[in-house]
Amino acid sequence: MKAIRLEEPGRFAQVNLEPASAPLQLDEALVRVHRVGVCGTDLHAFRGNQPFFSYPRVLGHELGVEVLDVGGQAEGIRVGQYCAVEPYLNCGTCIACRRGKPNCCVKLAVLGVHTDGGMRETLVVPIRKLHPSKNLTLDQLALVETLAIGCHAVDRAGLEKGEFVLVIGAGPIGLGVMQFAIEAGAQVIVLDIQAQRLEFCRGRLSVPYTIDASRENALEALAEITAGDLPTAIFDATGNGRSMASAFEYPGNSGRLIFVGLFQGEVIFNDPNFHRRELTILASRNARPADFSRIISLIEAKRIDTSPWITHRASLSDVVAEFPLWTKPETGVIKAMIEV
Ligand SMILES: [Zn+2]
Ligand SMILES: [Zn+2]
Repeated sequence: MKAIRLEEPGRFAQVNLEPASAPLQLDEALVRVHRVGVCGTDLHAFRGNQPFFSYPRVLGHELGVEVLDVGGQAEGIRVGQYCAVEPYLNCGTCIACRRGKPNCCVKLAVLGVHTDGGMRETLVVPIRKLHPSKNLTLDQLALVETLAIGCHAVDRAGLEKGEFVLVIGAGPIGLGVMQFAIEAGAQVIVLDIQAQRLEFCRGRLSVPYTIDASRENALEALAEITAGDLPTAIFDATGNGRSMASAFEYPGNSGRLIFVGLFQGEVIFNDPNFHRRELTILASRNARPADFSRIISLIEAKRIDTSPWITHRASLSDVVAEFPLWTKPETGVIKAMIEV
C-alpha cells in the first residue's frame, strides 16, 4: 500500500508498505484512512526538533477513517462506518489509566509520533479508539483530535459562565481552546503578536476581545477589558518558555493558569506573585476518550463550527512536495488536510 514516510528530518518519501497480514485480534479493527490533518507535532518532527522522536516514521495522528473489518463484536462499531480516531495508545494498567486518565498514561504511545501513524491507505487500530459519527464529514472527523486538545484544556479549567478568560497564542491549539471557552459561556480575550491571526479570531471565531502584544501593553489592556479584575483563567497555547513565564503576571487573584502548549525547559516564577493570588497551575495533555464523543455531538448539533479550520489541502502523493510549504507561517496555514 502507498504510504508517506518521514525518513529523516526534512525528508519525506513515498514508500510501499506491506498491508497487515496477521488476522485481526478480537479488539482490533482494520480501517481505510481517508483524511489526515497536519499539526504542529508533525511540523516539529519534520524540522527535527520533536523530543523523543525516532526516524523513519509514518506521521499522521488526526484521522478520518472508514471501518473495513473488525476482529470481534464491538458495541456501536460496524463495517462501513466513518470514525474519528483517538490516537493515544495506552497500557490500561498504570496509575493514570487506573484513574481513568489514559491521556497521560505512563507508557503512552501516540499514533504517528511514537508509533507509525495514518499517512497510508489502511491501518489497524484498537476498536475502542474509534469514535463513529453518522453525520460528520471525513474532514470534520479528522479535526476532532485537534479540537479535543482545546476541549480537554477547557475542561481542566472548569470555566464558569461569564468569567473572563485569556488565551495566549492564536495558533491551532489556541483556536480550539477559544471555541470551547466560548461554548462554555466565558468572555474570551486572545493575545498574540500577529495582527492577521487576531483579525482571524475576531472575524471567524467571533472572539470579542483581542490584544496585539507587539503594540500594546498586555497587562494594561487586560485591566481595561476586565474593569481592573484581570481574567481568572489564563491558557498558554504558545509552548514558548518566555510567554509561559510572563503568563504568571496576568491572572486575577484566585485564578488559574493552564499550560496547554509544552516547552522543553524550565519555567521559573516568582513565589509571592503565585501565592498572593492563590493561583492554581494546571497542565493539559492530549485529551480524554469522552472528549471525542462530546465533540462529535457538538459538531453534529452545529455548536462547534469547523469551517474556519482547513486552509490547505493535498493528496497523499503531493505531501512530499507540499509539506515544506505548510511549515511557513506566511502561507497563512491553520490546518492542512491530506486526502488519502
Ligand atoms: Zn495534532
Ligand atoms: Zn497506562
